[in-house]
Amino acid sequence: MNIISSQDGYARQIAFSTKNGSVEGPIFMPVGTQASVKSLGPDDLHQCKAQIVLANTYHLFIRPGHQLVKQAGGLHSFMNWPKPILTDSGGFQVFSLSKLRKISEEGISFRNHLNGDPLMLTPELCMNIQDSLDSDIHMQLDECTPYLCSQEETKKSMEQSLRWGQRCKNARKNPQNKLFGIIQGGFFEQLRRHSLEGLIEIGFDGYAIGGLSVGEPKEEMFRILEFLKDKLPSDKPRYLMGVGTPDDLVKAVALGIDMFDCVMPTRNARNGCLFTSKGKIIIKNQKYFDDFEPLDSNCQCYTCQNFSRAYLRHLYVSKEILSTRLNSIHNIYFYLKLMSGIRKAITENKFEKFSKNFLEEYYSIDDDNIE
Ligand SMILES: [Zn+2]
Repeated sequence: MNIISSQDGYARQIAFSTKNGSVEGPIFMPVGTQASVKSLGPDDLHQCKAQIVLANTYHLFIRPGHQLVKQAGGLHSFMNWPKPILTDSGGFQVFSLSKLRKISEEGISFRNHLNGDPLMLTPELCMNIQDSLDSDIHMQLDECTPYLCSQEETKKSMEQSLRWGQRCKNARKNPQNKLFGIIQGGFFEQLRRHSLEGLIEIGFDGYAIGGLSVGEPKEEMFRILEFLKDKLPSDKPRYLMGVGTPDDLVKAVALGIDMFDCVMPTRNARNGCLFTSKGKIIIKNQKYFDDFEPLDSNCQCYTCQNFSRAYLRHLYVSKEILSTRLNSIHNIYFYLKLMSGIRKAITENKFEKFSKNFLEEYYSIDDDNIE
């Protein structure tokens, strides 16, 4: 099925349907770790024009448990979000949060990071949890290798992820829910190729690129994207996991990426770091004490339409909880507006110009960029 509506160079405007509505890409997915995009309700997300959100399988499995979410009628009904949801596999959180994890052919043994209970995440359980959550897009269980991992270790791990990918495909319960495979292989091009070919053979509804943004220099990430750009199937969505800054998004779209997620806009919002069309603003800086201009005069979000930098600075330094919400609304809106601008530029065959203008403008103030 053709999902590409327009193409400009390698940049693609795509649309694909899920059982809870269609997704237009390139798109950014706000991260709702615990079935909540921190401090934002569904009304805020609708206002920010979010099309799809991400929720974390590991966290929901640990608490409140996928059976409870199933009992609530699934994640859409539990969190009152009617549009598409993507759930990750939980693998990444098992690696980053739990101690005493051990990998075997069967799966990952680990201890619950809240109470220490021994647990095992297998590809079959991973599919079972995501089926109970009833997300529109499931991710396969994979193993993510760190940046400086030997070729031999990376190969072993990538092959493990491929076998788990096949088991996830076999264990998927509802074919209406999409299942994405995850390309691993670290920073070794031949391993990336092998991983991609293996996944294509199994056959997935979309292909994600994992194992990037793990502490490597940016050029290394873009080298892998450059390598993959003409090898990824053109008729399936391509998702770059865990990336990134606004400028990363623009550059990755130029290499054919359709979907992104990252905690950056919401996490930075809570730390008072706000993205604007002219670069990052650190709102606590003294120079905003009596600055009654909006955060970003080019932004139509609720925060920019109603409040000044001086007020946002005041809320932040006074540690008012409204600070988190207003800052998060702006950062999420900014990311989603950027993506809709990208889609429009691709349709009009002006993506290269859009990208050049955006990056020039985005790098134009740099005094706040020193954190
Ligand atoms: Zn704004």
